[in-house]
Amino acid sequence: MDEQQPLPPHVLIFPLPLQGPVNSMVKLAQLICFSGLHVTLLLTENIHSRLVLHTNISSRFDQFPGFQIKTISDGLPEDHPREGSKFLEVFDSLKLKTKPLFKDMLTSGFFCSDGKRRPVSCIIADGILGFTCDVADEIGLPIFCVRTISPCCLWIFFCLPKLIESGEYPFKDNDLDEPIKSVPGTETFLRRRDLPGFCRSGNLTDSNIQLYKTEGQENSRAYGLILNTFEELDGQILNQMRTICPNIYPIGPLHANLKNKLSEQKTSFGQSSNSLWKEDRSCIDWLNNQLPKSVIYVSFGSIATMTNDQLMEFWYGLVNSGQRFLWVIRPDSVAGDDWKNKIPADLAEGTKERGYIVEWAPQEEVLSHPAVAGFWTHCGWNSILESVYEGKPMICWPYFMDQQVNSRFVEAVWGLGLDMKDTCDREIVEKMVKDLMVVRKDEFFERANHMSKLAKDCLREGGSSYSNFERLVKDIKTFK
Ligand code: UDP
Repeated sequence: MDEQQPLPPHVLIFPLPLQGPVNSMVKLAQLICFSGLHVTLLLTENIHSRLVLHTNISSRFDQFPGFQIKTISDGLPEDHPREGSKFLEVFDSLKLKTKPLFKDMLTSGFFCSDGKRRPVSCIIADGILGFTCDVADEIGLPIFCVRTISPCCLWIFFCLPKLIESGEYPFKDNDLDEPIKSVPGTETFLRRRDLPGFCRSGNLTDSNIQLYKTEGQENSRAYGLILNTFEELDGQILNQMRTICPNIYPIGPLHANLKNKLSEQKTSFGQSSNSLWKEDRSCIDWLNNQLPKSVIYVSFGSIATMTNDQLMEFWYGLVNSGQRFLWVIRPDSVAGDDWKNKIPADLAEGTKERGYIVEWAPQEEVLSHPAVAGFWTHCGWNSILESVYEGKPMICWPYFMDQQVNSRFVEAVWGLGLDMKDTCDREIVEKMVKDLMVVRKDEFFERANHMSKLAKDCLREGGSSYSNFERLVKDIKTFK
């Protein structure tokens, strides 16, 4: 760059150290680099080492001299499992141990590739990391929050104080089908069972309730809130959220936003995944040998776990449905490891005939494959958006967090699939798989195709997410 030319703004991006948020925010970092801004991506040492092991994370940014990765400690011992069930431990450690390191880094500026220290012009951090807003306030830096969970769940978090004040929460009895009335915009379909899983504890001192109760205040402290969604999917909820956070940037689906940018630039470089597990590409060969729209893809994401009994119910349901299936069973997702040695003969036979199992798949590629007709998902937000974009109807088996809310929206609001929440029975699995793949297939496909078209249109020039992303970049530039 010409010595005389002023440098572009320098954005620090700090994701929550979990697969879903890291995936989305690495993509956001790439998109921001394409806009000509300089980016430092701050990753915890643990996430960085896993990304380096399984992806080409650094070389993906080779074309951007203004990009760099820096690492920070999450404060946990090296052998800490850092899995989803230990999320609150990770979170507490970040708040306690990482916060002062984060502040030091920002105060002293970052060494950039030109060997000079450069101050940061603004921060983009995961909105759950409220301490980043404290630090931004303390040192006078503008901050944008990103939430990588669904807006429908975030809206429930915003309404938690209202749910408590109204007496709807904690629940007065065990009837989980009782409607919820104090979450504006959802009165006609939301039930107790659709609230985030941790609400079932009925305990106001539950650490999750304590953590998420303040979301509305925390996120509204930022200059703006960046969300991975699009107006046409979530407009009604976004309008509700704007009453608390007026400046929202819905710029999703992020994975496709980036894909479009890469194809505009005529480069496929940078398209590879941000997987923390090694992808088994043999499943693409298997899919290549299947008929169009003949396979249900099954994956419960990077965190969800199941018991051996659940595994068996799912497996029998899938095999008994008579449909072809591609199933991701993460090595750490089934309690106990001995299931592999105890596979009943009828399941082994049915799977050999019609199924394929891998430990981790290139999911975006799988969902875009013509052989895939449906997705049985745990309803993680990335998975839903990836499925919506590809026009694939869903069966939902939510595990935790936003997934209980998302699955209700998939069935009752968007009509894109079936909610299997709170059941795990081979007969129900069999029936739902048949309903999705055979009995109600046309109806689901029609709605899924329509939503997929809207998802594609919003990313074209002049579309809602396209324009919101341009507005975001313009706003960041004012903070130079
Ligand atoms: N994913 C993948 N391969 C798999 C399973 C999942 O690449 O075999 C990716 C998926 O495409 C998504 C992410 O992992 O981007 C999972 O994020 P999500 O929000 O759906 O769920 P989480 O893992 O956070 O529960």
